[in-house]
Amino acid sequence: MSGENAGWAERSDNVLTGTYARYPAAMVKGEGCTLTDAEGREYLDCLAGIAVCSLGHCHPAVTEAICSQARELVHVSNLYYTLPQIKLAELLTENSFADQIFMANSGAEANEAAIKLARICAGPDRYGIISLVGSFHGRTLATVAATGQPKLWEGFEPMPEGFSHAPFGNLNVLESMITDHTCAILCEPLQGEGGVRPLDIEYLKGVEDLCRKHDLLLIFDEIQTGIGRTGSLFAYEQLGIVPDVMTVAKALGNGLPIGAMLTRKELAASFVPGTHGSTFGGNPVAAAGAVATLAIILEDGFLDGVKEKGEYLQAGLEGLAARFPALADGARGMGLIRGLVLTEKGVANGSDMVNRLFSKGILINFAGNAVLRFLPPLIITTEEIDRLLTALGDVLAEYEA
Ligand SMILES: *Cc1c(COP(=O)(O)O)cnc(C)c1O
Repeated sequence: MSGENAGWAERSDNVLTGTYARYPAAMVKGEGCTLTDAEGREYLDCLAGIAVCSLGHCHPAVTEAICSQARELVHVSNLYYTLPQIKLAELLTENSFADQIFMANSGAEANEAAIKLARICAGPDRYGIISLVGSFHGRTLATVAATGQPKLWEGFEPMPEGFSHAPFGNLNVLESMITDHTCAILCEPLQGEGGVRPLDIEYLKGVEDLCRKHDLLLIFDEIQTGIGRTGSLFAYEQLGIVPDVMTVAKALGNGLPIGAMLTRKELAASFVPGTHGSTFGGNPVAAAGAVATLAIILEDGFLDGVKEKGEYLQAGLEGLAARFPALADGARGMGLIRGLVLTEKGVANGSDMVNRLFSKGILINFAGNAVLRFLPPLIITTEEIDRLLTALGDVLAEYEA
């Protein structure tokens, strides 16, 4: 690496913690599905800031909403009412099962709110949360404890108490793990970080039945799947399962940090003044950006377009899997969260494939040590999907040669 990007990388490594293994590009500008780095190189962004910039980068309506709010009022804390937060909560309740919302700044914080709500609703000595092996729920201590990936706990033990992890897809084992202390089951309807792994509908219905039978809250983490990503505003709508609590974040503000916990009024009643809070949560600028984002995603036909383009991408990925059976096994996902499932040989080269696509100016990532993951802006065109598929085909062909 040399030039402008290298200079920024060196300065970054000097003053920022080494938490991330970053690609060698300092991004300076974004428009639609295109990012530009410090050397003027352009990339087709098929990750959208990890399922965040669903309307593409710097969508004019969102940017306008952010700027005009920033001229009126940026922050006052939750000691006062603020209009964008109220409008956002109204939009979310009108378009979901929920009646009340707690606003946070990130996914992990939305999940923290859900965990605290589940515990306070259940009463003394009922604190246990069961989540799934392979899940991802965040990086704070409680949400990393809920995350079913032991490698993410390493070095940080002891983990907070009360979290256990059921093997993916096995209802009998899940039921055997429920005790008098359990208060909730937490899961992603489709595991994103875990490798774009959809949960079987029958399994999820079984999880819902167990919650009803044992008086547990069903918490859906829709931080990655929510806000249109799967072709409906929330994934639960397509599964015919209604959770008691749901968390969203990532795409909610199209890039501004905001998260939310959604629930029904009877449950929300346990959150009274003093039980939980956030200085920034539902901040006017972030909330105004989110209101503008939701307004576009809820426009007639927008989500149908996500479904159609998702099917187009799925068909293209299946075509590549058929062409390169030594490397890829098939494709899976919903809407515009898709994974190309790699074979053992493919997995061994997964990170390298991502690097080669990066060199060709296409951004994707390798998730769950299993799939190439595609999370493009929901506004991606079929022409742009074709560019992705062509470049991916070229990369896969390099391994066959
Ligand atoms: C990204 C993600 C989180 C954590 O969100 P942050 O904003 O990074 O805290 C939690 N759950 C799921 C399913 C996610 O994809």
